[in-house]
Amino acid sequence: MTTRPDKRLPDSLSFPTNAVHAGNEIDAGSGAIRTPIVMANSYALPEDPAQLSWSGTDVPLYTRNSGANQLALQNKLVALEGGEDAVVLASGVAALHAVFFTHLRTGDHVVVADVTYEATWRLFAELLPARYGIEATFVDMTDLDAVRAAIRPNTRMVHVETIANPTTKVTDIAAVATIAHDAGAILVVDSTFTPPPLYRPLSDGADLVVHSLTKYINGHGDAMGGAVIGSAELIAPIKNDAMVDVGGVISPFNAWLITRGSVTLPLRLRQQNSSAARIAARLREDPRIAYVAYPGLPDHAQHDVATRQFGGRGYGAMMAFAVAGDPETQNRFVANLRVITSAVSLGHDESLIVHVGTEGPRVAHYPEEFRKWGHLRFSVGIEDPDDLIADLTCALDETFG
Ligand SMILES: *Cc1c(COP(=O)(O)O)cnc(C)c1O
Repeated sequence: MTTRPDKRLPDSLSFPTNAVHAGNEIDAGSGAIRTPIVMANSYALPEDPAQLSWSGTDVPLYTRNSGANQLALQNKLVALEGGEDAVVLASGVAALHAVFFTHLRTGDHVVVADVTYEATWRLFAELLPARYGIEATFVDMTDLDAVRAAIRPNTRMVHVETIANPTTKVTDIAAVATIAHDAGAILVVDSTFTPPPLYRPLSDGADLVVHSLTKYINGHGDAMGGAVIGSAELIAPIKNDAMVDVGGVISPFNAWLITRGSVTLPLRLRQQNSSAARIAARLREDPRIAYVAYPGLPDHAQHDVATRQFGGRGYGAMMAFAVAGDPETQNRFVANLRVITSAVSLGHDESLIVHVGTEGPRVAHYPEEFRKWGHLRFSVGIEDPDDLIADLTCALDETFG
């Protein structure tokens, strides 16, 4: 048999090149140039397994510790997000819980953004206080004095989203990192709305970055996954405690799908960012639209923070808006759309919209217009933006016709 050369990538590659090559190895067994799916839950032990660390997470042994496809995806995410190590789990929520479970103890206090993903809200408002005795204070992260005032002697963690789901409020990560570090706390950033290369929170002082891989990084709506990226020191205990002993591991197939989906991340994001900017501006001009929340619009309250923080690379492709009318009008408008799909999730290749109502404790923290009109959370996909604008315009015509 001929021996095949190993892939020898240069040390420093640009993002689009890493999106193609990072984490991918020439398969030693078959010579395949893409990492194959390894559907095994166990790997052959060395001749003398007595010396083995049974809970080690670096060498494939048992798929709850590590496996070929998990390792490939982790290596890729380290290259894309710019950390030292990464852990991938079965969903974004599994990744969030893994961080909180590993790095918080009974009696610890957390400062949390007052607008977050629903499960994050419920973890800090109900589950972690009731089950583990972890205290949380919800604050408006755009009010830095309020963030400082919320810090207590036992504050161990600050948790924020870069662009909040669903109101699109933008957090100044560098400023909040300084407050957290001055208090001896770590800053955890859910960057699901702002995947790299749009933004890398670690470079602004975040200690751990969380992604729902289900969203932009996979980008094709066909797999769930979650990741945490950061220093080796903070990631190792997440692997040892939450991955190995709580066990919310990703399947090899989903890890492989997400690795493949992420190849086109920079291309998808470029299209999505530019389409979203155009669409938000168009909606903003239409008198039948009650409001549009999108960080790229000059009248967005954190437009300047977003411009500086995301370095002019864009403002993401998530927006919230409402048509002028009652909840029934929002539903009629959504029903009249033909290209844009009514479904939860976001960051897919296909545009997705979801009508969210005005009820529930979280909504009390939303801006007034969200409480009055409800909102439509809109994830702009990679379709031709002219088709999306036409779809929105026709649906408005039918709704108000
Ligand atoms: C979807 C989402 C999550 C949860 O991810 P899952 O993969 O659905 O578990 C967490 N944070 C944000 C901001 C999200 O949009």
